[in-house]
Amino acid sequence: MNDFPEGMVWLVGAGPGDPDLLTRKAERLIREATVVYHDALVGPGVLDLVLRETRLVPVGKRAGRHSLHQTAIDRLIVEAALQGERVVRLKGGDPSIFGRATEEIEACRAAGVPVAVCPGVTAASAAASSLGLSLTLRGMARKLVFVTACARAGETLKLDWSKLADPDATLAIYMGKAAAGEVSRNLRAAGLPGDTPVRLVETASLSDERQFTTRLDLLELSARTALGSGPALMLIGRAMGEQVGRACPGLATVIPGSETVA
Ligand code: SAH
Repeated sequence: MNDFPEGMVWLVGAGPGDPDLLTRKAERLIREATVVYHDALVGPGVLDLVLRETRLVPVGKRAGRHSLHQTAIDRLIVEAALQGERVVRLKGGDPSIFGRATEEIEACRAAGVPVAVCPGVTAASAAASSLGLSLTLRGMARKLVFVTACARAGETLKLDWSKLADPDATLAIYMGKAAAGEVSRNLRAAGLPGDTPVRLVETASLSDERQFTTRLDLLELSARTALGSGPALMLIGRAMGEQVGRACPGLATVIPGSETVA
């Protein structure tokens, strides 16, 4: 079966960073590609798997600093495919979660370029597994909500806080570092208790990963003082406190500003 002919684009999930968390399919596609366009969040260990003869092109985006516009990226991958390359578009985590996959798929389709998606381990799954926690919990977290708290510069977040402030849900908040205060205030105003457990995981799955335990009313302070410059995921909800001390007794609590002592 040749699922990667010349002139095709694969959107490939690179997972959270650790190359061991790549799917076998992702690894194969990376090796079969003639060109790889990758985001800034793709882990260095994953990029090491790209063969030396393969062209490796960063098109990275990090919060606030867009190195290439989405339309320019769309154009690049389409043009490479039309020139007969086997194109891998390597994206952090899972391409279908806050990954602008639709734009790239549509651009390919509009140009008649065959395109397919290879899933990846999303940051929330990686963070939960690092913490030794389950994102869902029988009777306590029946719902798991993936939310982005990323707003355009100068704009407030347009989220339905009354729906998000659900005591039976776990919220996995992506791109939320800058909006931590807004998230904390709005969820509390919509009824979530201030002592709702929050876990922050920075650079999940890589050697410099850091984990913090805090609560909703201390979230802004914790995010500001504890988090560094790496990508960070916030997990909010009762299930994030329930298992602490049971599943992972070695994880000490964290006072805002200080690091978890394992
Ligand atoms: N498609 C990606 C998400 C892209 S949005 C996925 O499925 O994971 C980028 C956001 O993802 C970051 O701002 C951060 O909130 C989160 N993220 C990505 N990699 C992460 C990591 N290794 N550790 C913690 N959060 C991460």
